[in-house]
Amino acid sequence: MKFCTNCLTPVLAKDQNSIEIIKQEYLKDYCPWYLGYSGGKDSSALLKLVIIALSQINSYHKDITVIYCDTGVENPIITDYVYQTFESLKLECTVLGLPIRYRIAVPNLEDRFFVKVIGRGYPTPTNIFRWCTDKLRINPVKQIIDKHPKATVLLGIRNGESEQRDRTISKHSKSEYYLTQSGSSKNQIFSPIIHHSIKDVWATLMFNDFPQSIDGQKLGKLYKDAGSECPVYRELPGKSCGSSRFGCWTCTVVRKDKSIFKMIENGYAELTHLHEFRNWISEFRDNQEYRCKRRRNGQLGLGPFTIQGRKIILDKLLEAESKSGVVLIQDEEIKRIKELWEIDLNNPNYIE
Ligand code: SF4
Repeated sequence: MKFCTNCLTPVLAKDQNSIEIIKQEYLKDYCPWYLGYSGGKDSSALLKLVIIALSQINSYHKDITVIYCDTGVENPIITDYVYQTFESLKLECTVLGLPIRYRIAVPNLEDRFFVKVIGRGYPTPTNIFRWCTDKLRINPVKQIIDKHPKATVLLGIRNGESEQRDRTISKHSKSEYYLTQSGSSKNQIFSPIIHHSIKDVWATLMFNDFPQSIDGQKLGKLYKDAGSECPVYRELPGKSCGSSRFGCWTCTVVRKDKSIFKMIENGYAELTHLHEFRNWISEFRDNQEYRCKRRRNGQLGLGPFTIQGRKIILDKLLEAESKSGVVLIQDEEIKRIKELWEIDLNNPNYIE
């Protein structure tokens, strides 16, 4: 049994293997490393093991950037948890002299959820019209990573999540721990926890005291109170986030947001007004009275929300914001929404 250098906790055999692979791969080349972090269990376990591995190396020739994507409509409880964890990790890594940087990616103003819905009148996403995942989650992270044509992207991908998932992993597998990325990106994906089962992941989180900033108990409680998560990087084709639930509080891809409902039951009362807004807009989107008769491409059919419909949504959102005490929309988003209304007000297609 081995011991982590910064604590006295015995390291699990599977973790030890991943730690050795991480050290070996880190030392191998100069390709920058980016770690996609969602705050969920897999990326947290991965980050824990990367930090342990780095603490066992004496000299560092490249930095690792940990990226979290704040869509602006994240579940506020999860966002608070991630921001606190980031602050604490920054301190812990600085004290240890580890070359790890922490970055928050945000969608372009034009792509933000409410700029699209209230400004441009996009109906909220469904399985058929899921315009959100790339704009809100994938592109902001990609914009940072793809600046480096030969970056290595560390993701908490694991075998054994489902048969279909295993087939996709095996199709993209480059070597035991590496996968090729879909699309035009030349970056490779490195997943040192690919052989971890779900139980192993929780063991990694619970039994490695170091780094202390990733607190397995705290994360375990959040999971118990809520559910799973949304992806942070387009890892493999076909993977999206509509059916998983550690994502946007505004998500209407699923019929019911059981995770927020469960969290409210578990005492997160501030989420009540967010949950009510989400349920309201999921019905409002189908009210034809507030949908234009033409689509943006000029064809007849159910189009964007009318200007009046968008105004009703903004009022309802501001009401939810004031009742919940949680900031739900930024001033710059409201400013942009009003500019977009002005543009559409000059076009009779979008008035009714
Ligand atoms: S959680 Fe829902 S709204 Fe958010 S990006 Fe995923 S599918 Fe879209």
